[in-house]
Amino acid sequence: MDQKARSSVPFGPFMAAGEADRHDAAPSAVAGDAGEASGGAAQAGDGLTGVAGAPAGPGGVVAVVFGGAASVPVAELSSYGVQDAYAVESAELNGYAPQAWARALAGLAAELSATAVVAAGTDHGSEVMAHVGAITGLPLAANCVSAERTAEGTFELVRHRWAGSLLEDAVLDARPALLTVAVDAVAAAAAEQPAAVSVHAYRPALEEADLRVSATESAERSAGVSLATARVVVGGGRGVGGPDGFGVLEELAGLLGGVVGVSRVVTSEGWRPHKQQVGQTGTRISPELYLACGISGAIQHMAGCLSAKHIVAVNTDPDAPIISHADYAVIGDLNQVLPALVAAIRAREGSS
Ligand code: FAD
Repeated sequence: MDQKARSSVPFGPFMAAGEADRHDAAPSAVAGDAGEASGGAAQAGDGLTGVAGAPAGPGGVVAVVFGGAASVPVAELSSYGVQDAYAVESAELNGYAPQAWARALAGLAAELSATAVVAAGTDHGSEVMAHVGAITGLPLAANCVSAERTAEGTFELVRHRWAGSLLEDAVLDARPALLTVAVDAVAAAAAEQPAAVSVHAYRPALEEADLRVSATESAERSAGVSLATARVVVGGGRGVGGPDGFGVLEELAGLLGGVVGVSRVVTSEGWRPHKQQVGQTGTRISPELYLACGISGAIQHMAGCLSAKHIVAVNTDPDAPIISHADYAVIGDLNQVLPALVAAIRAREGSS
């Protein structure tokens, strides 16, 4: 199936509890963790998830924020028409704790008789929703780009498979439906009228085991940009030649306001840390520009970068697989191409 032809499928309509015969669309107030980009909705708070159901009323969506009431991004939620937000607070909760967040979501969904629980398909969103599935015993449909309730407890879905290179039509019979939304695949729909947002405190009943895994520290992000959310990624593979070869890639990434990503060969060799790896067993990226240098384009690497809007490859081999995925290719030695590119950008900056 042609991904580009289908990628504009909207997320919705989203129906609320007990209103199977109503088909009016609700705002798609679906968002991700503060540190990870999602389909374009609110990004504030430690974590944000959508639950469809009461008390927002038929077709309503409530937002769930992990953090105090002050961390609820009220203005942003209002612009998406969200009327109710729950701030999940607990003395034991201090940052990311996947099973505890899931316990809270499952409890809240039960209290609200939610028809669906939705989170962004980010690392955190996927992990928390997998725990919600385990706690509730319900199936989870990951990486959805559209969801339509066709009957009580039945959703027709379209979702990404194979890193977005394939779209799957699926039917999910479950209540609540547990869904994650493919990252950067769905634009959030602003409401015609801003809503008045009521913020409610929610104190989950947590068990000791729920807190066994929790984040104790978070790595500093360079200039606030992470590999998963960067608009420009300069990728380096075996062709870079060794750890010392990455200086020019860092310089170029800095000039373009981006970050460096690497292939698995690079991390396996210990040239760069695993957190910079792009691919099936690394980070999935969806930048505006992926500049892949000295990377052959193995299927496991492409699984992590096929959502890039534009791929430019720099490679000495015109037959490297990545050339067939690239919008543009420079057939040449990266040791010559990249310094020339850096010099050209600096010259342009100097002349402007
Ligand atoms: P190579 O395949 O060796 O390619 C190097 C490229 O550099 C070549 O195309 C060459 O022409 C070019 N080159 C060489 N010198 C220069 C130069 N001076 N200038 C320009 N170009 C030059 N890989 C990942 O990247 N991410 C993953 O998440 C991942 N997960 C995996 C999971 C599994 C289960 C398995 C089995 C493999 C996985 N791999 C992953 C590994 C993957 O199969 C490839 O081995 C790896 O991506 C190749 O890395 P590379 O492109 O840097 O190296």
